[in-house]
This record gives sequence, structure tokens and C-alpha cells, in this order.
Amino acid sequence: MTKTMTATETKSATKTKGYAATTVKAPLAPFEFERRAPRPHDVSIDIKFCGICHSDIHQARDEWGGSIFPMVPGHEITGVVSAVGDQVTKFKPGDKVAIGCYVDSCRTCEYCRAGLQQHCVKGAVYTYNSREYDGTPTLGGYSEKIVADESYILRVPDNLPLDAAAPLLCAGITLYSPLKHWQAGPGKKVAIIGLGGLGHMGVKFAHALGAEVTVLSQSLRKQADGKRLGADHFYALSDPSTFEKLKNHFNLIINTVSADMDWNQLLDLLKVDGSMVVVGLPEKNVPLSAQPLVAARRSIAGSQNGGIPETQEMLDFCGQHNIVSDIELISIDKVNQAYERVLKSDVRYRFVIDIATLNS
Ligand code: NAP
Ligand code: ZN
Ligand code: ZN
Repeated sequence: MTKTMTATETKSATKTKGYAATTVKAPLAPFEFERRAPRPHDVSIDIKFCGICHSDIHQARDEWGGSIFPMVPGHEITGVVSAVGDQVTKFKPGDKVAIGCYVDSCRTCEYCRAGLQQHCVKGAVYTYNSREYDGTPTLGGYSEKIVADESYILRVPDNLPLDAAAPLLCAGITLYSPLKHWQAGPGKKVAIIGLGGLGHMGVKFAHALGAEVTVLSQSLRKQADGKRLGADHFYALSDPSTFEKLKNHFNLIINTVSADMDWNQLLDLLKVDGSMVVVGLPEKNVPLSAQPLVAARRSIAGSQNGGIPETQEMLDFCGQHNIVSDIELISIDKVNQAYERVLKSDVRYRFVIDIATLNS
């Protein structure tokens, strides 16, 4: 049942169940912790669903260094508002809401003011594996409740189901943002490399924006899915003829792969003035030659999720076009098996945890 926050609730922290990795090598296991006592601008959310992003695995295994344990991963969160602080203006109990990759930022730097909170000069406070500005570690969405400032909460359109909408909060915005920034649309040939969580959202968005979409996958195993998701063409990167056929072909390539790949060979697939935008995060540095860039005035760039206004724009776009993620809904006790399947590219196309199973 929904209710407005009472005086006692505003003062007390709430016990919350979740799943955590307690150390770098440990499998995720049940874990209890406290959510902060809500402040006047805070919204308390009952989490209903949380997507499993490949970044959760990188961080739970400390592949980028500096991971904070115990870690409750999860930054593809959807749920329902249970209570609001007395200064909250945007949300009320019962609203369908979401939280993505971060829960705070400095709010005053040039990027925060421009709605690019992901590039906050002070460093955004990420939803997990990060610290609030007072030093408190943040804990993410593999849990039953979360408390966050209303400025970092998104509204989920009514027509979108909360389970399949959850991955929009990272996989969705991470592909929507570069597709918009590099102007994917009619007359543009766009390639998406890697048909995983991020990649399958890229295919849906590029198609909805009117671009001609090609998937470049390791094999042709996912070809039928690629076409169903909106791809016009599908090629295997394991087939050397792909690189001959598609030379100088694309205006835009979005590379979602974190495994080792030859970026120079991929750059040759761009037309003059084409761009390859990297969103996947390989562990090691990638060798890059000037030759393919110079030869055709090509660019290579990177892109990190998206700001709060653009994330809301993306959710509204999904509402208008009926776009959600293709998901495999799992109970939370299956999270470690799900990680293994993600590592084998064996997920169609995002695992989403049904948070209700924390209590079953
Ligand atoms: P994912 O679901 O595991 O998808 C990655 C895809 O890469 C796989 O489905 C597979 O597609 C392809 N792939 C896997 N191994 C490969 C290999 N050895 N060679 C070539 N391709 C391979 O992961 P995700 O959640 O989409 O995340 C992808 C990457 O983006 C991760 O590094 C993640 O940390 C990063 N990320 C970045 C941002 C950002 O803001 N920039 C946000 C979220 C995630 P095929 O089977 O089609 O080849
Ligand atoms: Zn993510
Ligand atoms: Zn800032």
C-alpha cells in the first residue's frame, strides 16, 4: 500500500534485503543493509525489477580496479514510489519510476547545468560501487528498496512494463545517446557491433530513428533475432569476407564489445567522415593506428550512458514507440548463473531480476 512519509519515517533508516558480493572472488549472496533516512527532497522506492548489466560483472570482479565491497550491484532499476519527502514536487506515492547509473552529482558544474550529469566535474555519485559526497558507499538495485533525491529519478511511461523497461536505464540510454548525438536517422548507414544487452537496444533505436541498420556479430547465430529486432543486414565478424564487403560502408559504428578486437580493421568499415563510437569497455588498452583515421577523415569517440534530461527523453521515446528490452526474467537466487551466461554471450538479450523473489 502506498502512503505519504510520516514524521517517524523521515527520521529513520530502513532495513533492506539485497544480494551482494562481499569480496572480489565471492559469488553474490543474500545481504542485509540499511537505506538512509529520507531527506526532504528524497523519494523512497520499492524496487520491482533490476537489469543485469555487463558492467555489474566487471565491477563485482574488480576488473576496472578500485571496487568497493560489500557491493550490491544494479543500475537498471524500476519500481514504485512508496513515500516522498515533504519538499518533493515531481513524484507521489504510486508513481512508476526508475533509477539509472547515478544518484547524485555536484549540480553546479558546467556539465551538470547542461544536463550532462554523467560528465560532472566533481564526479557523479554512481548508483553502486561509488561514494556519496559524505563518503557513504552506495549500494545498488539488487535489493528491495532505494532512497534517492528526486532530481535523479526518472518517470516510466504508463504503457511500458516495469520488467522489460528496467534495462532502458543503462543499456537503453547508453545506445540512445550516441545514436542521437551522431545523428543516426534516414539516409545513414549504422552498424552495431555485438548483439548483447546494449547492442540489441542499439538495433531497436537505430531502426526506430530511421537509419539503415547492420549488426556485426561474432557469428550468424543471432541473425534471425537481429532481423526481428529491426536490423536490415547481419554479418559475422569471424568471416574475413565481411571486411571486404563492408569496406568504406558506414556513417556510424557503435561498438559495444568489451573483448579484444582490432579497432583499426573496424575503422576501415567507415566512409569518409564516418565515426566509430566505443561504448564497450575493454580491460586492456587497444592498439590504434593513425592510418585508418587519416585515410578517410574518420573519427573515433566514446560515449558514457546519458544525462538525466536525455534519459527521460529516451524513456518518453520508448513510450511513444513501444520500445522495451527483450528480457529473461530470473529469480534473484539465479544471479550467479546469469553472470556466467552473460560471459558466454548466452542471454536473449538482458537478464532482469524479479525483486519480489528476494522474499520467496
Ligand atoms: P553483453 O550483454 O555481454 O554484450 C556484449 C556483446 O559483445 C555480446 O553479446 C557479444 O555479441 C559481443 N562479444 C562478447 N564477446 C565477444 C568477443 N570475444 N568478441 C567479439 N564480440 C564479443 O554486455 P553489455 O551489457 O551489452 O555491455 C557491453 C559493454 O559495454 C561492457 O563492457 C559494459 O561494461 C559496457 N558498458 C558501457 C556503458 C557506457 O556507458 N559506455 C554502459 C553500460 C555498459 P555477439 O554475440 O553479437 O558477438
Ligand atoms: Zn550498465
Ligand atoms: Zn557537476
